[in-house]
Amino acid sequence: MSASRHPALFATDPELASFVAAEEVLQAQTLRLIPSENYVSAAVLEASGTVLQNKYSEGYPGRRYYEGQQNIDRVEALAVERAKGLFGVDHANVQPYSGSPANLAVYLAFAKPGDTVMGMALPMGGHLTHGWGVSATGSWFRGVQYGVRADTGLIDYDAVRDLALAERPKLIFCGGTALPRTIDFAAFAEIAREAGSILVADVAHIAGLIAGGAHPSPADHVDVVSTTTHKTLRGPRGAMLMCREEHAKAIDKAVFPGLQGGPHNQTTAGIAVALHEAAQPSFVSYAHAVVANARALAAALLQRGFDLVSGGTDNHLILIDLTGKDVPGKIAAKALDRAGIVVNYNTVPFDPRKPFDPSGVRIGTPSLTSRGLSTEHMPLVADWIARSVDAAAKGDEQALAAIRAEVTDLMAAFPAPGLPLS
Ligand SMILES: *Cc1c(COP(=O)(O)O)cnc(C)c1O
Repeated sequence: MSASRHPALFATDPELASFVAAEEVLQAQTLRLIPSENYVSAAVLEASGTVLQNKYSEGYPGRRYYEGQQNIDRVEALAVERAKGLFGVDHANVQPYSGSPANLAVYLAFAKPGDTVMGMALPMGGHLTHGWGVSATGSWFRGVQYGVRADTGLIDYDAVRDLALAERPKLIFCGGTALPRTIDFAAFAEIAREAGSILVADVAHIAGLIAGGAHPSPADHVDVVSTTTHKTLRGPRGAMLMCREEHAKAIDKAVFPGLQGGPHNQTTAGIAVALHEAAQPSFVSYAHAVVANARALAAALLQRGFDLVSGGTDNHLILIDLTGKDVPGKIAAKALDRAGIVVNYNTVPFDPRKPFDPSGVRIGTPSLTSRGLSTEHMPLVADWIARSVDAAAKGDEQALAAIRAEVTDLMAAFPAPGLPLS
């Protein structure tokens, strides 16, 4: 089936082509619940696979170190203009290769090795690049970390303020990878102002919700907005840094020549297309549908006896706490995978288990919403999750296989964007 879709690839390298074809089938047939993943449109896929790949473009539009930039400059300038319009910022840099290098560029722009930086602790839902120990950001800088309250699962803004005033960090990061609730950017801004810190909103997970008006925007509150382009924003794998004019030079210099060489122009093109798509009324509907689906799924999971970190969700993401069940996160995640439901195991705040074998499962609704599933399907999804966890506890492989057949059936009725088959 995919031979006709990628004829040159099949002719040149059938082995590799067969892996891609198998991945297309997997993505079409499974219920993908990893909250950082999505399905890009066919248009984004096409833009990302163009001859822009062939061009070196160190520098920025109008000031490059290589000739022949007539078209590349237009592509990058278009992506930049669209980012500025969509997120309401003075300046956008669309060159970072991914979210982690984007964040590293922020350190390079504003801090010196050894400086104190502050972010949410990884096991509480933060990201590695917010100063966590095993990351370069935690070994080259002095990371201090905040978390959530044990009783509510919500960010403890009083504790954030106390820590910020005690440590006076150069940088404060807000945002994370496992935060099911709305981030109060204004509260962080007040704290950063008091502490004299540069505030960075890392909205990698929620950029699409912000673009679609389903989560408040950090643009008016923070110094820098960092985001990936491939999660809820539904673009190619990449990242952007956005800021007010006063920080534009520092950010640009940090990305190139500070950290990177030539930008990935084919990705820039894909980002431009994704930003265009995200500016359409249909994307507003999409973003709100993602949240409505997550709320409905959370409610259905609570009804089925699951504990959820913070008791539910405001966004696209749900963190299931299996501490009270017989099944830890990893075993549940692997059983769900066998049932055709793709999730990731994750720590929960104050997890009694180890990070590589934690108590949580992290799920989200961006991908299933891209396929057109709606709130009416969420009780069924919750049922599948409950039955799979149950089957994992009992070691019932037949039950998992039965669920997988049901999942495949439903997915066939909701073709995924960008995929040749359903
Ligand atoms: C995903 C993510 C990143 C890193 O993005 P990569 O593209 O995987 O490097 C950084 N910060 C947050 C909050 C993220 O969710």
